[in-house]
Amino acid sequence: MLHLLDPTRHDLEAWLAERGERGFRARQVRQWLLHRRACSFAEMTDLPKSLREALEQEFAVWTTKIVRHSRSDDGTEKLLLELADGGRIECVLLRDGQRRTICISSQVGCAMGCVFCASGLDGVDRNLTAGEIVEQMLRLQQLVEPELRLSHIVVMGMGEPLANLDRLLPALEVASSEEGLGISARRITISTVGLPPAIRRLTDRGVHYNLAVSLHAPDDELRSRLVPVNQNIGLAPILEEADRYFEASGRRLTFEYVLLAGINDQEAHARQLVKLLRGRTALLNVIPYNPVAGLPYATPSAAASRRFRSILEEGGLNVQFRERKGDKIDAACGQLRRSTPTAAVSP
Ligand code: SAH
Repeated sequence: MLHLLDPTRHDLEAWLAERGERGFRARQVRQWLLHRRACSFAEMTDLPKSLREALEQEFAVWTTKIVRHSRSDDGTEKLLLELADGGRIECVLLRDGQRRTICISSQVGCAMGCVFCASGLDGVDRNLTAGEIVEQMLRLQQLVEPELRLSHIVVMGMGEPLANLDRLLPALEVASSEEGLGISARRITISTVGLPPAIRRLTDRGVHYNLAVSLHAPDDELRSRLVPVNQNIGLAPILEEADRYFEASGRRLTFEYVLLAGINDQEAHARQLVKLLRGRTALLNVIPYNPVAGLPYATPSAAASRRFRSILEEGGLNVQFRERKGDKIDAACGQLRRSTPTAAVSP
């Protein structure tokens, strides 16, 4: 069955026209879903019953099932969703004051193979459709207090978003447009391992989302060990395209750096990072490693993190050390999926 959000509003209008229905119904249906948090056609009470029935025959409002819903004390909630074909993805709602940030997935699994990450341990199964990407937003919106709205989106869940740009961009268009979720592009962040041709496409499209590049190492030798796709890419072309994106969009770049004890957390790495990034309008987001069962990586000690941080700050970099949220519910990408046996699916 087709996902109600896979056709664009234009496609839906054409579908309605074929049935002699007026075009404004498309807008009405989408408003029910996107603004009024409807979960079924039955709730769309200002549509004629015959139309609701016809829609129901053709389209599904939800194509996913919630397999697991976990909440942690800090207000973080995580959903493990099962897709129509049995694939599983994760998405997260983070609460911070009035902020309601969601973290969504772009693929089932991941092909990038970052050695410390749970998402790519079994490779990639497939790209998510635009509808499946939007559905994560709506599932999480359902969890938000009625008086609040989703305020920020980070595409930092499972998968490499720039490897699925053709479906991600229409989904983010729904998120950012006024008739969609109305989340301004400046509150939407795409996190990438760094695929230069895809960054170039973003630049050329003129879309102004925030770009976060997962760096994790200050030189190609170490980066290729941690992020294997780097072997065929290299830092220089990634930084070049990121800089072009900054120039075109004016959006401050973010570089992410997962600190792995004894691997990329030495003072020499911090000094190299300063050299690499100095002079850029950028934020270096240092993320403490969230240990993954079965992988031989660990979070550095507080003292090692402090040392690392002070070298970066003395070097004049704009740094942020992210605190851990949602650890207890396996909220780092790909972890919930791995810790939930398939048999746990409820019908
Ligand atoms: N593929 C994209 C987005 C997905 S992951 C990318 O590489 O950016 C979002 C961020 O979380 C990436 O920086 C990723 O390297 C990091 N990450 C993955 N596993 C992690 C873990 N166990 N602990 C902390 N950060 C992790």
